[in-house]
Amino acid sequence: MIQPITSLKNAFSLSGQNAIVTGGNRGIGLSIADAMAQAGANVAVFCRDMDKGKEALEILKTYGGKHECFACDVADLRSVRKAVAEVYSYYGGIDILVNNAGVAAVGAFLDMDEDLGDWYRVINTDLNGVAHVTYEVGKRMREAGKGGCMINITSVSGVVVHRDGPRSSYNAAKAGANHFTHAMAVELGKYNIRVNAIAPGYIRTGFTANPTPEFEAFVKAHQPLDRLGEGIEVGAMAVFLASPAAGHLTGTIQLIDGGFTLS
Ligand code: NDP
Repeated sequence: MIQPITSLKNAFSLSGQNAIVTGGNRGIGLSIADAMAQAGANVAVFCRDMDKGKEALEILKTYGGKHECFACDVADLRSVRKAVAEVYSYYGGIDILVNNAGVAAVGAFLDMDEDLGDWYRVINTDLNGVAHVTYEVGKRMREAGKGGCMINITSVSGVVVHRDGPRSSYNAAKAGANHFTHAMAVELGKYNIRVNAIAPGYIRTGFTANPTPEFEAFVKAHQPLDRLGEGIEVGAMAVFLASPAAGHLTGTIQLIDGGFTLS
């Protein structure tokens, strides 16, 4: 059993914890890596674009700690296996896994190309990618016997179907990742591994970096809070979920959506 907190002293600290953030080289993943480094964690960034990864490390290093970047394509199990072996030999152990890497595709399902390219690309990254890294890290966490924490960055698209553009592959992958979170929370609880998800709404990075006036009007019309979310707000939630303060949370899907899913 992991002992519960008895006071708030250090309850939100990740001091000395080793964390993997997939897709931690930019966008929401970089915000999560940044927030975790600020909270005292050593952060391993998994990504394909190593130049961007090195740029991210420059930011993380300003907080102190031991941060490194590892080449990894989450959609490819062999690539994940190699990266996880490397990260364990570098740090000795991992306490926190954030499955953030993701891609999206917008377009009507019946109008996809004949090979269903977008379908496989999104499912292979956003759902199979989560399974690949969870499998490789989870086995090592179980073997180490010290518990751990996994956080899957899913989406409100795993809960509702947007009316501003069809994205069936993304809906299916993110809904799958949400329920995979539930399944892993049940399976891994006995090893003191907590598994939660964060389901962001419209966040001002990556997919939505340069919102058009029409898009901003859509957000205003559909959210009780009339602005896009910020990456650091997702980072703050990730720090909380990984911290001792969240020691009794597992199997939850944390919406950060300005109330979007209420409409
Ligand atoms: P970005 O496009 O800015 O970043 C995507 C990240 O995923 C990059 O770091 C990219 O790194 C990485 N990535 C993509 N494919 C792979 C792969 N096969 N292997 C390893 N890494 C990969 O997106 P966001 O920051 O906006 O999104 C991050 C997560 O948040 C995603 O899971 C997304 O679905 C989710 N989300 C985003 C929302 C938003 O409004 N922005 C809303 C809801 C959820 P590289 O290309 O170097 O590999």
